[in-house]
Amino acid sequence: MDAFWMPFTGNRQFKADPRLIVGAEGCCYRDADGREIFDSLSGLWCVSFGHGRTEIADAIARTARELDYAPPFQYAHPLAFELASRVKALTPAGLDHVFFTNSGSESADTALKMARAYWAKRGAPEKTRLIGRAKGYHGVNVGGTGVGGIEANRKGFGDMLTSEHLPHTLLEDNRFSRGIPEHGAELADALEDMIEAHGADTVAAVMVEPMGGSAGVIVPPKGYLNRLRAICDRHDVLLIFDEVLTGFGRTGASFGAELFGVRPDIMTLAKNLTNAAVPMGAVVVSDAIYQTFMNEGGPEYQIEFFHGYTYSAHPLACAAGLAALDIYEREHMVERAAKLAPYFEAQVHGLRGLRHVVDIRNLGLAAAIQIDPVDGEPGRRPWQIAMAAWKRGLYLRFGGDTVQLGPPFITEPAQIDMVCNILEDVIPAVE
Ligand code: PMP
Repeated sequence: MDAFWMPFTGNRQFKADPRLIVGAEGCCYRDADGREIFDSLSGLWCVSFGHGRTEIADAIARTARELDYAPPFQYAHPLAFELASRVKALTPAGLDHVFFTNSGSESADTALKMARAYWAKRGAPEKTRLIGRAKGYHGVNVGGTGVGGIEANRKGFGDMLTSEHLPHTLLEDNRFSRGIPEHGAELADALEDMIEAHGADTVAAVMVEPMGGSAGVIVPPKGYLNRLRAICDRHDVLLIFDEVLTGFGRTGASFGAELFGVRPDIMTLAKNLTNAAVPMGAVVVSDAIYQTFMNEGGPEYQIEFFHGYTYSAHPLACAAGLAALDIYEREHMVERAAKLAPYFEAQVHGLRGLRHVVDIRNLGLAAAIQIDPVDGEPGRRPWQIAMAAWKRGLYLRFGGDTVQLGPPFITEPAQIDMVCNILEDVIPAVE
């Protein structure tokens, strides 16, 4: 078993007591013992339209036979253009040009490089500073790790790209808020202080998740994102939304940008884009940014952006993406998520008062239950809860001091009840 070095996993613990998944359909996995396990996190927030979608599998198989691969540098295949047009049509107006990657992490680093290259092309090469937010998660590549603000992800890796972080928005006053919390919009003003301290002529971009996911569903307070937008406009700083997790319906709106009514200059995507059947990410940018690259002039063979991946716009990923977006539209996934969200909210908040529960946060079909630390260790109990839940036929995620829920949009209310019933038993039972 040691041949496989597992990612983000306690390898020694897992290999002593493996949790092997061998099949998946609808909202459930099947484990190696033949048990059915409810997938309360849509994989890792990425299989939101349900497992085992035959339309996606068929599209991948068809494409694999016809065009297994095409080089994406200087050559292309039609599915890439088709998928870019579909993504453009779905993302908020003004985000019009799509650059494909293979993951959320690659999308983050691509977006950060784009922001710096944009300012260089605009004649401001000193505008390189990148600002993130405490508890932010933008994947694990060097740029995203640096701009990200989860301490455990940065520790032990030496210098990262940046250490500038806005304060997070988790306030005591907002505990047990339902949906978007009331207090803390003024925390956005820290951005203005930072820009003024360093000089706007040194700041390229600020990157945030419209709803923090990995650190435990951190929903920005009312007005907070509008305030970030206004500060960016005042100081000519790009606003990047990492919508890898919130993209395509999770919040009950198509995108966080839409829910909060704030348009970023750059948006990063991944996860639901292909319903996770083939890895794929995307960076969607405003026309102003795209045209800055295109209008630079130079010889006809000039490459406008020196960046790309061997597998950018891979034909199988494009095929999976087109089939996933067909399902997303045809089965009204956003509406389904929005319809289930109030029931989900009510049931999850019903866990308030259980031993160990210190906060519950939610938005759309995302929720985090914050658990009190044991002997100063925030991660121990969430891990114990996840392990106990697995034994009861429930998969959930634990991250930091939270357990997290993000069920597929096709989940039935009775399945939400089942999840909450298991949690009601399991959470207070951990020591
Ligand atoms: N950004 C956000 C907001 C995410 O939630 C994630 C994944 N949880 C990533 C980036 C990284 O994506 P990936 O794991 O596909 O690299």
